[in-house]
Amino acid sequence: MSVEVRNVHKHFGSFKALDDVSLKVESGELVALLGPSGSGKTTLLRIIAGLEYPDPGTAQVLFHGEDVTDWPASDRKAGFAFQHYALFRHLNVFENVAFGLRVRPRKSRPSREEIRRRVMELLELVQLEQFERRLPAQLSGGQRQRVALARALAVEPTVLLLDEPFGALDAKVRKELRRWLRRLHEQISITTLFVTHDQDEALEVASRVVVVNNGRIEQVGTPNEVYDRPANRFVYDFLGSVNLFRGRFRQGGIDLGGLTVPAPDHHGAEDAPAVAYVRPHEIRILSQPAGDGCLPAVIRHVNSAGPLVHLELERPDGGSRFAVHLAREADRMLRLEPGAQVFVELQNPRIFSEDYSI
Ligand code: ADP
Ligand code: MG
Repeated sequence: MSVEVRNVHKHFGSFKALDDVSLKVESGELVALLGPSGSGKTTLLRIIAGLEYPDPGTAQVLFHGEDVTDWPASDRKAGFAFQHYALFRHLNVFENVAFGLRVRPRKSRPSREEIRRRVMELLELVQLEQFERRLPAQLSGGQRQRVALARALAVEPTVLLLDEPFGALDAKVRKELRRWLRRLHEQISITTLFVTHDQDEALEVASRVVVVNNGRIEQVGTPNEVYDRPANRFVYDFLGSVNLFRGRFRQGGIDLGGLTVPAPDHHGAEDAPAVAYVRPHEIRILSQPAGDGCLPAVIRHVNSAGPLVHLELERPDGGSRFAVHLAREADRMLRLEPGAQVFVELQNPRIFSEDYSI
């Protein structure tokens, strides 16, 4: 079942929460809605579920090509799970998952045996079949979240909408659960849209990422596309750590003070301010200058705990600082210590003119 929104605007009073949002999620996709807090992610998810309505006008919500804009939530049959998805505390795991089936009107309610079969199948899917009699209080946070997902799936939803499903859990459990979600999706391939403000989560789990900011979509793409070819400065900045090297447009490049980075796609006025964005792992450290393609710098800090060595470098004369992430191997070869004078090569700088503020 594909899900599409077209030209969605949403105001709360005079505040514009969504500003002309259009998006199509293909059948069976696992898509992340990624953006900072307050960017409109939950509002968009609720509009898709039918729990909130867009401003009247041109907006459309389509499920599998059918216009469901005026349908109530119950007819859309979206499965929903939230960050603080309160399970029924007095019901055991089995009854929590069965709930959505038991409350159906008699004529569409499955038989007792059918409910039992379906709930046990779901508990097996979320690997909790041995916990069917436990109360929510007797489960870990990660297990509770899996019960919430089983509950959302119990009603055989047309689409699964997850609002920061792992938001309340600690980092290690979140990591486990996001891998688990991806595997689950491989098994059942239900069209899934999940909201997160965590870029690692979006990049690791989703087949496509939708980056939202201030009620607008900034970019839609595969994790690689949004990470390696960000559409603008906001996306670049939001998707990972980044260093800013400020300079000025000069003769078809930008002059960073000692190094000119070519900028063939930019037509900034001569001397206009510009900035080069470079990710910390896209900087190479050299002990000797290599031609005129590098900048001098001094090592200020070295932290080698973890899989990568994190270095902080400073441009000469107390200039700006920037971060470099190196493989341990490369660090061992260079023997980098605080105070060492080195040269850096910027491997994939992206140039933006300076008239944009985040
Ligand atoms: P996100 O999920 O990305 O954090 P939301 O969609 O929850 O963002 O909210 C987007 C903006 O709309 C926020 O500024 C929020 O305060 C506002 N907002 C959301 N729901 C309401 C509401 N029912 N009434 C008034 N303002 C709301
Ligand atoms: Mg939200």
